[in-house]
Amino acid sequence: MNIIVLIKQVPNTTRVELDPKTGNLIREGLLSIMNPDDLHAVEAAITLKEACGGKVTVVSMGPQQAIDVISEAIGMGADEGILLTDKAFAGADTWATSFTLGRTIEKIKQYDIVFCGRQAIDGDTAQIGPQVADYLRIPQVTYVSEIEEVHERHVIVKRRLEDGFERIHCRLPALLTVIGELNRPRYPMIDRLIRACRDKAPIQIWNAADIGVKTDQVGLEGSLTHVIKTFAPKFKREGKILEGTTEAVVRELIQKLKESEGATACKAFASTCRI
Ligand SMILES: Cc1cc2nc3c(=O)[nH]c(=O)nc-3n(C[C@H](O)[C@H](O)[C@H](O)COP(=O)(O)OP(=O)(O)OC[C@H]3O[C@@H](n4cnc5c(N)ncnc54)[C@H](O)[C@@H]3O)c2cc1C
Repeated sequence: MNIIVLIKQVPNTTRVELDPKTGNLIREGLLSIMNPDDLHAVEAAITLKEACGGKVTVVSMGPQQAIDVISEAIGMGADEGILLTDKAFAGADTWATSFTLGRTIEKIKQYDIVFCGRQAIDGDTAQIGPQVADYLRIPQVTYVSEIEEVHERHVIVKRRLEDGFERIHCRLPALLTVIGELNRPRYPMIDRLIRACRDKAPIQIWNAADIGVKTDQVGLEGSLTHVIKTFAPKFKREGKILEGTTEAVVRELIQKLKESEGATACKAFASTCRI
């Protein structure tokens, strides 16, 4: 079984802070890690390889330093990695990212399952998995929480819903996006990790030309959406706790509602109240 895992390097925080002047993410002082859901995707791929045989290839698009998460995945047991890095890939929206990853998978050719995390903790869109499956014209199952059966031409998986599960029979090749419930990721083995970090093998580095795309098809130029402005919401309203007897509190509340500007509905409501 040939398995591809898409992994993303993300800042080690869910509290993303923005530079108020530039609107860019403040990355200084933030460590980078493998996106948490992607650890579960790597673990699922390795477990499957151990059970069925085959090969696990991890792919990451990012700056040169994203090689660290590829090394980590190889340390865990993946067989090889591909780092997609090129100035032309920078500034990609989710469409351009999915297109780049899709073209890479087409170039790899041989695959039965593509694993993704459900969502990245920085971009947070959860669009890449579904978009890559759509690009490749293969079936997809999102929110996979259990892999029940794996056969040569199909899998049976459980998909987490808000209030239950769906049990799905899915033909292969397919793309599965996984959630943390699926498994417990293993730690990298130190000798494998050292080899991957020191020798950078078996890691290939591919650029736009390697996957046969023009630079205006990827990155900022190839993106269909452009961010006009990024900002953190300002919390203007302050809460106030009214104190006193119930009657006094209600009286004060009604008075405040009547006084509040622009709160037409509240005023209308308040004018009907009599105490
Ligand atoms: C208009 C726009 C402009 C943007 N400009 C920039 C920019 O200038 N610089 C920038 O860094 N980001 C930029 N982004 C964010 C970037 O597009 C997203 O980070 C990227 O497309 C992945 O989306 P996500 O983080 O929401 O991933 P999700 O869809 O939440 O990720 C789901 C899964 O997809 C896989 N995956 C996601 N990204 C990758 C990847 N890069 N490599 C391998 N697997 C992956 C992983 O398995 C992950 O768990 C921009 C986004 C938009 C919408």
